[in-house]
Amino acid sequence: MYRTHTCGELRASHDSETVTLSGWVHRRRDHGELIFIDLRDRYGLTQIVFDPALNKEAHALAETVRSEFVLKVTGKVWVRPAGLENKELATGAIEVRITEIEILNKAKTPPFEIDQDKEVNEELRLKYRYLDLRKERMKNNLVFRHKFIKRLRDLMDERGFCEVETPMLMKGTPEGSREFIVPARLYPGTFYVLPQSPQQLKQLLMVSGMDKYFQIARCFRDEDSRGDRQPEFTQLDLEMSFVEEEDVMSLNEEVLTILLKELVPEKEIMQTPFPRLTWHDAMSRFGTDKPDLRFGMEIRDVTELVKGCDFKVFADAAAKGYVKCLTVEGGAEFSRKEIDDMTELAKVYGAKGLAYIQMEADGPKAPIAKFFKPEELEALVKAAEAKTGDIIFFSASDSFEVACNALGYVRLACGDRFKLRDPKKLALLWVTDFPLFEYSEAEKRLASAHHPFTAPKDDQIAQLDTDPKNVLAKAYDIAMNGSEIGGGSIRIHSPIVQEKIFKTLGISDVEIGRRFGHILEAFEYGAPPHGGIALGLDRILMLLRDEPNIREVIAFPKDSKAKDLLTGAPSSLPDETLKEMHVKCVEE
Ligand code: ASP
Repeated sequence: MYRTHTCGELRASHDSETVTLSGWVHRRRDHGELIFIDLRDRYGLTQIVFDPALNKEAHALAETVRSEFVLKVTGKVWVRPAGLENKELATGAIEVRITEIEILNKAKTPPFEIDQDKEVNEELRLKYRYLDLRKERMKNNLVFRHKFIKRLRDLMDERGFCEVETPMLMKGTPEGSREFIVPARLYPGTFYVLPQSPQQLKQLLMVSGMDKYFQIARCFRDEDSRGDRQPEFTQLDLEMSFVEEEDVMSLNEEVLTILLKELVPEKEIMQTPFPRLTWHDAMSRFGTDKPDLRFGMEIRDVTELVKGCDFKVFADAAAKGYVKCLTVEGGAEFSRKEIDDMTELAKVYGAKGLAYIQMEADGPKAPIAKFFKPEELEALVKAAEAKTGDIIFFSASDSFEVACNALGYVRLACGDRFKLRDPKKLALLWVTDFPLFEYSEAEKRLASAHHPFTAPKDDQIAQLDTDPKNVLAKAYDIAMNGSEIGGGSIRIHSPIVQEKIFKTLGISDVEIGRRFGHILEAFEYGAPPHGGIALGLDRILMLLRDEPNIREVIAFPKDSKAKDLLTGAPSSLPDETLKEMHVKCVEE
């Protein structure tokens, strides 16, 4: 028998019991006569003591052990005298005085220290992920992930949802990304595609009458710029029949609220029911479709006010587009460098520049001030509701999105600068009434803002023929602390409307048949009205654990360039394998 207890289990109540523990050497302290070891397993740490007076051989062997050796030890539980307990440890009331030790396995010196949460190069952490996962923080993240998903499954089950596994090897489904493909050995020249999401299959489950489906689903997306994305990630994917937008949103809100209250009681949900903003309001007021509502600092529109002014940049934008402003309390103290950094940030999001007014004690100061008459300047300051000590930033653009976005990112940077983004607070909200399409400048055509199965608003179906760009969708996103954590929609269930959407997207009849024939056909056999959503579980877990990226809550993630540093994937394959798969590699 390897153990009678775990390393996290023993308490004063076990006094004088003879116990056997197995685990890793977390830390070893040699005090001449006595050797102390903190023995570690998933459940905790126990201090074990080797005293030559108890067993000379055991003590001698303990002298040879090093960090991360795997031990099996037997000894007697000894309750520490009052005042000598280790308050830091759950097992701190006791120690175990060892009479027998067996070294189950030796360990090389690890490439980084396991017993400390020091900054370690991420490449090294990913290459030795099994060692990285020995660390307290990482282990806790994985256990939290398990608990979260377990409770989520139960909550879905209690609400009548049935978990159905959908295949990994399938035909592609468009979610706006490139797909991973798998050559089909049995059918030369053909391929399976790894799903970007179970979207079409969950809709087909609705046609089958499943009524309420969910899945903790793995999704695959092959994207160029990886950033904080993973080629494979996990969603709570769900779909419901006979529902409106409201039904899907309230179900999710209920489940999320329970989960957050139970699993992160130390965090405060700022507002329930979650606030709702239309896409247009979210953009106008916060410059993004996923606003961080932990703080105010709203964007204002001053387009009307600057029409025909002498500052050409504003006047031109106001004639065709938008001039927006953002008042930042305390921003008058920003240095030149800080203002330059904000300007660079705004430029990343398409702005040509960032005008500003600093509200000094002796009045507004700004390079642009000379273009405005005193009363015009006063009117701007008034509209911006700025007072002494503030700064007002302005963005001007022909495009609504650019004018809003630029200030949206400046707003977040100012939120960080003034520590307004408190990690102890959770601000959730729904964003609704998204445009159905986006115009892709690169491809000079319309693309689905969400995916092509999203239903347009009922009263706008006719507008698909005349003015598709302004059609709104029955779509909703949920955001938390400035991150999008999920999105979904009511779907099209009419084959006629679905076909119309494919055509509006510029997909030819032949393509429609080839790629989507199965779903159009399914809709002809009695498809119920239906809708659903997917929540990005990795992202949610990252936010709840206060982690800087999703790799910290995934056991074996790829690095930021989509490589698996542990196993070395992706890697080349032997020629015979390629031949068998009918695959030929072409030199670029
Ligand atoms: N399939 C969508 C996605 O992966 C979610 C949904 O519409 O339910 O984003």
